Amino acid sequence: MQITTVGFDADDTLWHNETFFRLTQAHVLGLLADHAEREHLEQRLLEAERRNVGHYGYGVKGFTLSLIETAIEVTEGRVPASVIAEIMAAGRDLLAHPLELLPHAREAVEALADSHRIVLITKGDLLHQERKLAQSGLGDLFHGVEIVSEKTPQTYARAFATHGDGADRALMVGNSMKSDVLPAIAAGGWGVHVPHGEVWALEHAEAPADHPRFRELPDLGGLTLLIAELG
Ligand SMILES: [Mg+2]
Repeated sequence: MQITTVGFDADDTLWHNETFFRLTQAHVLGLLADHAEREHLEQRLLEAERRNVGHYGYGVKGFTLSLIETAIEVTEGRVPASVIAEIMAAGRDLLAHPLELLPHAREAVEALADSHRIVLITKGDLLHQERKLAQSGLGDLFHGVEIVSEKTPQTYARAFATHGDGADRALMVGNSMKSDVLPAIAAGGWGVHVPHGEVWALEHAEAPADHPRFRELPDLGGLTLLIAELG
């Protein structure tokens, strides 16, 4: 069956993201070094993120709140307001970080925009994702943009029905096995995994074993050829 629609994840698929979160995290946990070992701080932060993602959703705002919560916890409520202010400033810096496209992102999006309907499907803070898309210079190439709170099979079924002709004629490409690949396949589409650097612990999942609609690529450079081969 002909693939007519291609969904792209944004963060760490089209542009750098996790690296900047990790740098902010290292900076903030450095501020708390007097209170606990790094490994313990990382563990407490991850627990806070796991608790909070259902309250605040994905993105920098929720991450900043989890950093503040961790600072309060590990200092047993004694963290100075100046440190809270510094954490908030680090979060704002993260929001303002200049966008850097990943290798082959621009040519893959440009090439597929000519031959397929292409849709950006991303989660995170609405305003931040809109701004990054504008900075990327790729915004006008997408036939549709979906900034969602969670990526489930229903998310992909709806997005590919709205912007294409259903998930079974669609292919989703992204760096997250858990959010991009598995739910797109569960919706009846193709899932192409393009790993990039470190994966946030909450995004970890195993690859689907020999699923006929699962593929993996080292980078976006091979995407147009893969889609041509699949039909
Ligand atoms: Mg991603």
